[in-house]
Amino acid sequence: MRRINGFFITIFALAVVMGCNEDHQTFEVDRIATGTGELDITFLGHGTLMFSVDDNILHIDPVARYADYTQLPQANLILITHSHGDHLDSNTVRLLENPDTRIVCPQTVADILGRGTVMENGDTLTLAGMEVVAVPAYNLKHKRPDGQFYHPKGEGNGYILTVGNQRIYIAGDTENIPEMADLGRVDIAFLPMNLPYTMTPEMVVDAVKMVKPAVLYPYHYGDTNVDDLLKLMKVEAPGIEVRVRQLQ
Ligand code: ZN
Ligand code: ZN
Repeated sequence: MRRINGFFITIFALAVVMGCNEDHQTFEVDRIATGTGELDITFLGHGTLMFSVDDNILHIDPVARYADYTQLPQANLILITHSHGDHLDSNTVRLLENPDTRIVCPQTVADILGRGTVMENGDTLTLAGMEVVAVPAYNLKHKRPDGQFYHPKGEGNGYILTVGNQRIYIAGDTENIPEMADLGRVDIAFLPMNLPYTMTPEMVVDAVKMVKPAVLYPYHYGDTNVDDLLKLMKVEAPGIEVRVRQLQ
């Protein structure tokens, strides 16, 4: 059993009002103690997250349909997992950029944006004071009607971020692939759960057994019933804390 309690200070549903105009938006934020400071994770929706730590703002798969980005801070670092429209939104990337912003993405995304630091599966970089590891994210089972996988192996990335003493796995669009058993220690995992693109609740549980995070955030879950996952987790992986946030 991993030592969980004491590592995390979480403020549940800390409502943060972004922006100062009348049409303000409210998101859930969890605050995570990292040993060297606090990491605030803002849950914008689906696969879209914002991390703030010290003075650094990290946007993950920023897409305008999940938030009004004109009301959110610009990025030091933008991480993009793959080129699908629910993960890559060129206009939003441009809105969040300033001359010092680093964009990290797979080649297929850099080809669309015309810029960006390309990370292939297995690459490691240190950016904005964080170690970033690109890891595989792909389908083993679910295919398009034409027989192609929704997410072919090698095309997209998941990312593992090290923030202070926390290793955070943002899986991207993937199924329960064998590489998940070799990610090393993971404190917090974001795992996707929607059909036909990513995983069923059963597949997420299998993934959790490989990743062994202290805390699981199901994300990118669309219409999938999160209660089904919670019931399975209670039986199959009772030591792992599951935190459900607004990430349909
Ligand atoms: Zn996708
Ligand atoms: Zn997706």
